[in-house]
Amino acid sequence: MKNIDFHIHLYPPEIIRDAAAISEREPYFGALTKGKVHKWATVDDLLLRMERDEVERAVVGSFAFQDLGLCRLCNDYVIDCVRAHQDKLDGLCVVPPLAAGFEAEIARCAEAGLVGVGELFPDGQNIDITDISQTWRLAKAVHEANMCLMWHIADPVGHDYVGKGSAGPKEAAAFCVNHPEVRVIFAHLGGGLWVYELMPEMRLYLSNAMYDLAAMPWLCEARALKTIEAAGLAEKFLMGTDYPILGTARYEKLFADSGISAATADAINRLNAVALLKRLNRVENSADPRQSRGGGA
Ligand SMILES: [Zn+2]
Repeated sequence: MKNIDFHIHLYPPEIIRDAAAISEREPYFGALTKGKVHKWATVDDLLLRMERDEVERAVVGSFAFQDLGLCRLCNDYVIDCVRAHQDKLDGLCVVPPLAAGFEAEIARCAEAGLVGVGELFPDGQNIDITDISQTWRLAKAVHEANMCLMWHIADPVGHDYVGKGSAGPKEAAAFCVNHPEVRVIFAHLGGGLWVYELMPEMRLYLSNAMYDLAAMPWLCEARALKTIEAAGLAEKFLMGTDYPILGTARYEKLFADSGISAATADAINRLNAVALLKRLNRVENSADPRQSRGGGA
């Protein structure tokens, strides 16, 4: 299934090696990486999988820690991966969005050619995304860098899982009401926020919001995709697996079972991502991603 995978977590080898020690001061990381579905992956694992599963491009992120130093280490890794594989990869950076100095880290990553910030964890990083006094600096930094911003969002109902958190569609909507200009991607189908795109005023507030399918095989039935198509919202969805905890195979079944048209499937799988990437901080076919903001090195 040809696709662009927009939701991927890669881990620098040092993070994998030191995971036990890091877990002691990063409880959210500890909980997730000790969870029963957790898997590690480095860029080499991803490249093998891309080859095998016909993933044409991947937008890779790492893990959003509370500590800015650990985030920087992850960002260095993502920058190196993207530079080494520009034909296959784009990258997202991570920051703790209330820490002193996070704006400079976003600017550094934008300068290095990364296209966005995320997946950030409202609960794991202790930020209330409904509180404009906590979010305005982040919104400004992301917007000025011409990046997208990916938030982990969960359904407010249904089964619990490690890392689910309490930021749901209501909180995600509040973020967009406060910052409608930010190109935001709400992971995990935005916890159902897309349904409220059928309210005219919310459609306006959510003009720059998109949703990804990360972990969808574990969350809801395939026919949700048919509902999304019927609601005219297919253009707002991005394929994203949450690799390495999920791969392409489960999504192939999901798409096959969904009943959506081939055109809708192609939009969600590839074309929406192509269009979004064109608008973000990056120049196609640039020999050096550091030149992606139009200036020199
Ligand atoms: Zn997530």
